[in-house]
Amino acid sequence: MTVEIPTLAELHALGAAQQPTYPDAGAVQAAVDKLRTMPPLVFAGECDDLKQRIAAVTRGEAFILQGGDCAETLAGVSADNVRAKLRVLLQMAVVLTYAASVPVVKIGRLAGQYAKPRSNDTETREGITLPAYRGDAVNGYDFTPESRIPDPQRLVDVYNASAATLNLIRAFVTGGYADLRQVHTWNQDFVRDSPFAAKYEVLAGEIDRAMSFMQAIGVADPDEFHRVDFHSSHEALVLEYEHALTRIDSRTDEPYDVSGHFIWIGERTRQIGGAHVELMARIKNPIGVKLGPSTTPDDAIALAARLNPANEPGRLTFITRFGAGKIRAGLPPILEKVSAEGLNVAWITDPMHGNTFEAPSGYKTRNFDDVLDEVQGFFDVHRAVGTWPGGLHVELTGDNVTECLGGGEQLTDADLAHRYESVCDPRLNRVQSLEMAFLVADMLRK
Ligand code: PEP
Ligand code: MN
Repeated sequence: MTVEIPTLAELHALGAAQQPTYPDAGAVQAAVDKLRTMPPLVFAGECDDLKQRIAAVTRGEAFILQGGDCAETLAGVSADNVRAKLRVLLQMAVVLTYAASVPVVKIGRLAGQYAKPRSNDTETREGITLPAYRGDAVNGYDFTPESRIPDPQRLVDVYNASAATLNLIRAFVTGGYADLRQVHTWNQDFVRDSPFAAKYEVLAGEIDRAMSFMQAIGVADPDEFHRVDFHSSHEALVLEYEHALTRIDSRTDEPYDVSGHFIWIGERTRQIGGAHVELMARIKNPIGVKLGPSTTPDDAIALAARLNPANEPGRLTFITRFGAGKIRAGLPPILEKVSAEGLNVAWITDPMHGNTFEAPSGYKTRNFDDVLDEVQGFFDVHRAVGTWPGGLHVELTGDNVTECLGGGEQLTDADLAHRYESVCDPRLNRVQSLEMAFLVADMLRK
């Protein structure tokens, strides 16, 4: 039996949070009509496959690595940019796979991560107040009145940008670029070239010996060496976009949001009975929900009941983002209640969004040590409760930006101005990301 999808008007009538106020309803209709004619970006069968992989995470038999920009930009759709992000994620995944001794499910915040919820509707600079930037899916980053007007044509542009990005990723991950030996060589280069990375030598050496061992016993060239599974994800925010890309799969007669493999509901849009939860409740993709420090155990139970009534393993991932100072007290009651109810959930940590602050220089930043501390808290709490710490959700880039403080390079507030490129939240740079993988590897092995 086919699930009924509410109409866009019905969803908006639920008082959808964080939506653009478009000035021209006709232009919105034209963009939605156009999107409805466009082919799927991902296939339902791929979403099912990812759901099976996440089901293994709910059983404690796999680990998730999800990462990428806070906000992708249309200008950022270049081979260099996409390749650099993919490369750092693959490098991290090899280290984590070795340390966890389980498969690492690789998911990019890529090919669709263009819409941002905002704490404030407006932004003021030097006495001038304009609508906030809501991501390239909605309006422009330039601080001018024209640029900040929401333009629905951007939804079509984002679709096209996502298609181009996915096409490149599919080529990279099946075409030899992701070869395990190649990725391992990049990691060895990282360890060799970084003065402070001597502490990562031991683990890199172990991985090297494991690779040689496999070669020696004759597993010289399995298919798994050449290709990796990689999935796309984004926050499902702008209803017009997600609704237009929700399609009935001809195989199963079930609805899927074919804008990405995995989509998540943000901290600001997870209201029970709200438009985002109601739309996501109808689709079959694996989905996530961000849980911040205001979440009660009953909130988590209510979300699971609405979003995964059949308790299907792999369908629901809770992405906790409490902040380093709050996770140790805040997470246990939620874990205990969800476990006591026997709910199948994959738990992953987003150690970024609870640790954002404004540096004296005025830049929005995060401290590498706070990020690490939240991950450590996440592992500690799960181990104490007896649940599986199932993965990591990070904002990162493959470039040498200066957006987060600390790390082995010991970036300071004075360094932030050097190369701060994010249009939204601060990301770990390439070196900080790789260091994080090595440090989390240690936590996994303990
Ligand atoms: C994000 O992931 O960029 C984000 C806005 O997160 P949250 O909904 O957890 O604040
Ligand atoms: Mn963010």
